[in-house]
Amino acid sequence: MTLAMQFVKGFMNLLFPPVCAVCRMRIDACRQKSLCQRCSEGIAYLMPPLCRVCGMELAGGKDRDFVCGECLRAPPAYHLARSLVRYESAVQQLVKRLKFAGDTSVAHGISAIMRRSDLTEFEDCDWIIPVPLHADRHRRRGLNQATLLADLFFPKKREAIRSDWLVRTRNTTAQTRLGGIARRKNMSGAFQLRKGIQLERKILCLVDDVFTTGTTVEECTKVLIHHGALRVKVLTLARAPMLQRGRVG
Ligand SMILES: [Zn+2]
Ligand SMILES: [Zn+2]
Repeated sequence: MTLAMQFVKGFMNLLFPPVCAVCRMRIDACRQKSLCQRCSEGIAYLMPPLCRVCGMELAGGKDRDFVCGECLRAPPAYHLARSLVRYESAVQQLVKRLKFAGDTSVAHGISAIMRRSDLTEFEDCDWIIPVPLHADRHRRRGLNQATLLADLFFPKKREAIRSDWLVRTRNTTAQTRLGGIARRKNMSGAFQLRKGIQLERKILCLVDDVFTTGTTVEECTKVLIHHGALRVKVLTLARAPMLQRGRVG
């Protein structure tokens, strides 16, 4: 059992704490909620119509089987990408606390989001692979937030989670301020599959915290496909609003 899994198990075994998992404001313990009303209302769930491939929210239209212009122009290597919520307000706080403070008490908030989400698209996945951190960063942070999310997303498939198969070989600089081309250059060749792992004809679920332009998951997907994976499905907790994939350059 990984350290992150032990953390999650420990925390999940506790009863819901009487403070909001996002803002720490006291909440009514009897109501068995993990988020205060304000934070709960600040979470925007992604609703159809979405691009069938990249999962981007599309304005208007009733067609649920739609592919966005970007995916038509440059189809990504992954089969589909889905996120649960928009990366804004309360969700940004959740992710920041998880990522930079290693604060696993936010697991309650993430579980609350998950209970309202539909993950049936991922039921056929053979293996679940969290996007890895570089070893240096992992050591500094103490946990990989993507592994913790994988544990929360798939409580009944934990034996299928493989957090050490994909390796980040380069400590890439923070992507946030880079444009499209720079992001892709920065990520190119940043991941490798551990030697001896067989992926032939397997359907994989790649898990990460935030989908911004999709460059990171695209790079991971290329490595997995290169090693024989049949299909890669991407699942992220949150999606940055309208930062178009590959639009820059
Ligand atoms: Zn709150
Ligand atoms: Zn798309």
